[in-house]
Amino acid sequence: MEIVVASGKGGVGKSTLTASLIALLSRDLKIASVDADAEAPNLHLLFNVRNWDREEEFISAKTARILDNCINCGLCRNVCVYEAIYVDDGGNHRIKEYLCEGCGACSAVCPVDAIEISDSISGWLRIARTKYGPLVSAELDVGKPNSGKLVTEEKRIAREWQKEGAVEHIIIDAAAGIGCQVISSISGANKVIIVAEPTPSSVSDMKRMYDLAMHFRIDTKIVINKDGMNPGYRGIEEFAEENGVEIIGRIPYDPSVPKAMTAMKPLVEFAPESEASKEIMRIAEVVRGWL
Ligand code: SF4
Ligand code: SF4
Repeated sequence: MEIVVASGKGGVGKSTLTASLIALLSRDLKIASVDADAEAPNLHLLFNVRNWDREEEFISAKTARILDNCINCGLCRNVCVYEAIYVDDGGNHRIKEYLCEGCGACSAVCPVDAIEISDSISGWLRIARTKYGPLVSAELDVGKPNSGKLVTEEKRIAREWQKEGAVEHIIIDAAAGIGCQVISSISGANKVIIVAEPTPSSVSDMKRMYDLAMHFRIDTKIVINKDGMNPGYRGIEEFAEENGVEIIGRIPYDPSVPKAMTAMKPLVEFAPESEASKEIMRIAEVVRGWL
């Protein structure tokens, strides 16, 4: 089983739920955790990972570099549609690496072969053994593209563990939104759990996430976080009824949640008696029924 916890919007408690689900299910199942938010990974913080067991560079992009034999003819600048080439105060042509897509057009027109196209580091892949099982995490370098590829690579590693029998199931903490990282996260998954709050903006983002999951024909459930924070608002329930989507849990607002994050612990371990923990334990039993 590969289960993705997603949300159309950030800050709705997705990682809190994911970390606690993993903490509960890993008590008697072999779970691999995938932190698929390569722009802002945080699962390792909740698992109190201080050192990585393995860390490697992820190279998936090319970038251009201007060499010393450049004669400053300007041809490269004219063909770069990404406007990645500029002239510095000294009249020399330079590359803005964060804008360069590595397309190679500049190199093709350079009359003196003064442009080198080489591999560029997009980010880092990291692996840690945690008390909840192996965690694969990733971090995209600032301004670098290909976050989707990085997530695909994370999933490849976790699926490899699964194939070898080192883990039974994979739980993925997706990035917020519906960008390429999220598409990579849900591609090939068995279930998607969408976390949403009872507010119009969260519901609107939840609908977009639901549409994306439906595009991939993935069985999708909803968890309401901060249930009751907006008394009388039934946007999530109405959407669920209209679309036949099951709401598998309603986590109440709980002041223990930010305290658990500060303590770098899954909520169910930091405050197991809290109302939010009790509901997450109930949700974990629903999830366990799928496995
Ligand atoms: S490789 Fe492409 S994007 Fe990069 S500087 Fe050259 S023309 Fe521009
Ligand atoms: S085309 Fe080549 S020689 Fe001309 S400015 Fe660009 S790098 Fe320099």
